Amino acid sequence: MQYEYIVLRYGEIALKGKNRKNFTVKLQENVRNKLKEVPDIKIKRQRDRMYVLLNGQDPEPIIEKCRHIFGIHSLSLAIKVENDTEEIKKAALFALEEADGVETFKITAKRTDKSFPIKSQDLNQVLGGYLLSNTDGYTVDVHYPDIELRVEVRQDGTYITSQKIAGAGGLPVGSSGKTLLLLSGGIDSPVAGYLTMKRGVQVEAVHFHSPPFTSERSKQKVFDLARKLTDYGHSIRIHVVPFTKLQQKIHQSIPHGYSMTVMRRMMMRVSEKIAEREGILSLTTGESLGQVASQTMESMHSINEVTNYPVLRPLIAMDKEDIIDISQSIDTYDISIRPYEDCCTVFVPNAPKTMPRREKVNQFEQSADFTEELNETLANIDIVSIKPASEEEREFSDLL
Ligand code: ATP
Ligand code: MG
Repeated sequence: MQYEYIVLRYGEIALKGKNRKNFTVKLQENVRNKLKEVPDIKIKRQRDRMYVLLNGQDPEPIIEKCRHIFGIHSLSLAIKVENDTEEIKKAALFALEEADGVETFKITAKRTDKSFPIKSQDLNQVLGGYLLSNTDGYTVDVHYPDIELRVEVRQDGTYITSQKIAGAGGLPVGSSGKTLLLLSGGIDSPVAGYLTMKRGVQVEAVHFHSPPFTSERSKQKVFDLARKLTDYGHSIRIHVVPFTKLQQKIHQSIPHGYSMTVMRRMMMRVSEKIAEREGILSLTTGESLGQVASQTMESMHSINEVTNYPVLRPLIAMDKEDIIDISQSIDTYDISIRPYEDCCTVFVPNAPKTMPRREKVNQFEQSADFTEELNETLANIDIVSIKPASEEEREFSDLL
């Protein structure tokens, strides 16, 4: 006997009423996409869960991949047998003996197929008794068992599962539309991207750089961050914006205390144009209240004036330590702390205004004409598509 299936449970999606089907279809598409390199497996979708039929494949690497897919609440290895008591007993015995370091167990039987003759409670007794009399050294503990064996008698067969592995939670990426993430090389914006993806949003990114003041390596850093994010979804397109001309103009024509605010407003204007072009309905930033000068209430009030697109700020109320914890858990932290310069740090004055006022900013902006620089910037954006590392490797080996 061996485990033949992985059960993927939906968690929150299961609550989504008549939208549920759209969510589960999207999830199945994402699971297919993630596992497309694995031969022979089959992915079956049911109303409340999905099954990966292993067909002899090693489950471990598949579980590892599935643990990064948003919309999956928990996973378990499963054996499937006919709705036959003797078969079920053997499978339960296998599952118990397969588990390492276990002394106590509990059986939780659930009979969805009411034509099966033994009721759930009675099945618990039958199976518990069978396991105790066919093994040595195990005892039953209904409160704190080392292992809970779930036995589900369904229409299409009985599934026996043991360990529950935590999934990534959230909603399937792509089920909540798309956002344009302002992605710097810092710690915060990749985490903001991760959190929006977790709510089912597909991410496209925009990055502002200022050659020759910012190097190729600082751009590469952003690509590497985006590649980490692809682990949780699809390929990510990055709109790389040459920001030097605009920044120089700001530097020359805006009082230094206000140049940071104007620079952020320019970023918003350019980002909104890109979003509009691409049919994307929102922007996302890594801003967190009170972290730096540009992230005060007054600052956001001034910066936000130039766009009426929704600006998602998933980190707004988070402490830096908590943001760092997430960046470490998604493996972006070590990339983020690489010491390359950012376009904002190159031109930023020592003491930016922490309380910029809208009237003032508007007055300063109107005293200079940015039309030409804005148009030139918009005309020279490069788009780079960042693929998941596994796809990149495969394409590379196809070339050899
Ligand atoms: P991060 O760690 O994300 O860089 P931060 O704490 O350094 O954030 P700021 O420099 O004020 O904060 O940036 C605020 C937000 O503005 C960033 O989270 C990001 O969304 C956006 N941003 C900043 N610089 C860039 C850039 N060069 N390209 C694209 N977006 C940027
Ligand atoms: Mg930054």
